[in-house]
Amino acid sequence: MEPRATANGRPSFTSKSLFRFRCHDALPCFTQCCRDVNIFLTPYDVLRLRRALNMSSSEVLNRYTMNYLAGAGQIPVVQLAMDPETLYCKLVTEEGCSVYGDRPWACRMYPLDLASRDGEYTLITGKERCLGLLENSSMTVDDWLAEQGVESYVLMEQAFHSVMPEEFQPGKTMAPGLGKILFLAYDLDRFADLLEDSKVRSFYEIDEDLLNRTREDQEFLLRLAFQYIRNQLEELFENMS
Ligand code: SF4
Ligand code: SF4
Repeated sequence: MEPRATANGRPSFTSKSLFRFRCHDALPCFTQCCRDVNIFLTPYDVLRLRRALNMSSSEVLNRYTMNYLAGAGQIPVVQLAMDPETLYCKLVTEEGCSVYGDRPWACRMYPLDLASRDGEYTLITGKERCLGLLENSSMTVDDWLAEQGVESYVLMEQAFHSVMPEEFQPGKTMAPGLGKILFLAYDLDRFADLLEDSKVRSFYEIDEDLLNRTREDQEFLLRLAFQYIRNQLEELFENMS
């Protein structure tokens, strides 16, 4: 059965839909999807890159991303930087992605994309560009997502979205400082530095055990950063009203 089409004419899949796809290095398009693309990163993507590259979050952000505060809301935008001359992602090699095990969510999803928040998926590209879509191998969307390991990325992104207070309205001019507070989730080492201050620890009731855990467990550190950001944003919004 042919899949339905989304509003932009691309096929529409549910999690149970079968789609044809297999990517491998013998295809002429190999690594072309890592060139001249807009890949927006989440805080968890940066955490995984930081781990893969064994660098501080600030180094990852400076060397491999473009980042800025966007629009009236001053929301942080963090994008993978492309090499200015070749336009390839700075993390790609002739053998493929150099951080494959820790590649960002968007790279894991490719060639799929979310079509809506209701479990609808689509293709982000066509068979003319992504020749893997012509291969004789098919799987359900669910199986593909499980194989790509997207679940931990989705759960962490849901946790990040919940840091926004109810008063937040996308596109509306926000209090100065909002973007910088949110950016701490991306620059996790700066948040870790904050925790070295005993006054901050005492205010947030972070004892020695918790502090040690933040040093050993980066996912735990990120979740704690979300809580800290949520508290800071609540204060900011209270002062605005
Ligand atoms: S374009 Fe598609 S098939 Fe080609 S390398 Fe990228 S994901 Fe694989
Ligand atoms: S992070 Fe890896 S998969 Fe993603 S665009 Fe860069 S090289 Fe390609």
